Amino acid sequence: MAEQYDAIICGGSFGGLAAAQQIGGRVLVIDRLEIGEGETSASAVPLACLENMDMTQVIDQVHEDIIIHTRRRAQVLRFFPFCTFDYRRFCEDLFARTGADFVRTRISSARAGRVETTAGTFEAPLVIDAAGWRTSAPKREQSAARAPRKSFGIEARQPYRGEGLHFYVGPSRGSRRFYWAFPAGDHVRAGLATYSGHSDLSGDLERFCDDLGMGDPGAVHGGFFTSKLIDPVRDGMFLVGDSAGMCLPVSGEGIRPALVFGQVAGRLAERVRTGEMRLDEALRGYRSAVESRAKGYRVLERLQTILNVLPDPLFAQYARIIASDRVLPWAVRAYWNVASPDLLTSGRARDPLPAGIAA
Ligand SMILES: Cc1cc2nc3c(=O)[nH]c(=O)nc-3n(C[C@H](O)[C@H](O)[C@H](O)COP(=O)(O)OP(=O)(O)OC[C@H]3O[C@@H](n4cnc5c(N)ncnc54)[C@H](O)[C@@H]3O)c2cc1C
Repeated sequence: MAEQYDAIICGGSFGGLAAAQQIGGRVLVIDRLEIGEGETSASAVPLACLENMDMTQVIDQVHEDIIIHTRRRAQVLRFFPFCTFDYRRFCEDLFARTGADFVRTRISSARAGRVETTAGTFEAPLVIDAAGWRTSAPKREQSAARAPRKSFGIEARQPYRGEGLHFYVGPSRGSRRFYWAFPAGDHVRAGLATYSGHSDLSGDLERFCDDLGMGDPGAVHGGFFTSKLIDPVRDGMFLVGDSAGMCLPVSGEGIRPALVFGQVAGRLAERVRTGEMRLDEALRGYRSAVESRAKGYRVLERLQTILNVLPDPLFAQYARIIASDRVLPWAVRAYWNVASPDLLTSGRARDPLPAGIAA
């Protein structure tokens, strides 16, 4: 007989743990790895995310400046502070707040009410797919269920001390490379990504690390960035984070939207659990909450396509325009609002959906 829960969360990373935090009752989190293992990202977020979630204890370093290096100049942007943080501690601390059970196993399929895994079947009226770009759809349905993934990136870590989040724009050859160096206390997270999904990047990473004076990159991790928002409801389930294509195009910032929409989905699911809403109402509310941000995603998606092929002199001009006093405040506000950290809370929110998000 299948084990019964109030809610099952497929995936125990950013989106899944943010959702689990909002749901009371008997909640199960399932992941193929232990909580806090399998980091794919550089773990940089707007500082406000961790402040609003009361998770500042996991911060490695706060960064006031973003520095964009094009071939001829470095453009310093100062808008809202970011921070680099410790992924393992973040996940472990957030999981500890959820009160959920955890099972380490591979999910073979998830749909309304039922999750099949290599450790058996689990059932719950509420299922949230937060399994990242791979999704927890059954194998034969995965190619249709997965959000498009245009970008691919890898990164390495080496001892280093520095300030600011640094981006380096590689030359345009139809598949532009974006490099980053994010200091995080005693080390730097150095990596690169392509907007074209080109994944043979080890040689470029070695050269980049060499240029930074880091030597051999050592252990490398990474993967795909989703690049297009899809319907965040499938088979009676809430989809959060990369499983719904929520990673922001252009910047590849996927943690903030996974946390924000994870909490929104969790709050709606909690209302279903407590009998305040029907599941179909909650799913409809979630879909319209996400769709209220779809225009921002579409703008970023188009911009990413253009930036991939923009000739180098025009790219430098673009960076100057964005940094100008007339454009920067408007662009920053629009970028922030796509997945506003103001929506994040530290505890289980019993209150209705926060103002500013349609449901
Ligand atoms: C190189 C690189 C650097 C990045 N840097 C940043 C950054 O600095 N800041 C930022 O905001 N974003 C960054 N991103 C994007 C960010 O990593 C993702 O958008 C974010 O991790 C999405 O969170 P998620 O919870 O949706 O999915 P994930 O973090 O991918 O979590 C999915 C979870 O589901 C589990 N899972 C998957 N399939 C199964 C299965 N079949 N059975 C059981 N469990 C399963 C996985 O083990 C994992 O724990 C980066 C991405 C890459 C590739």
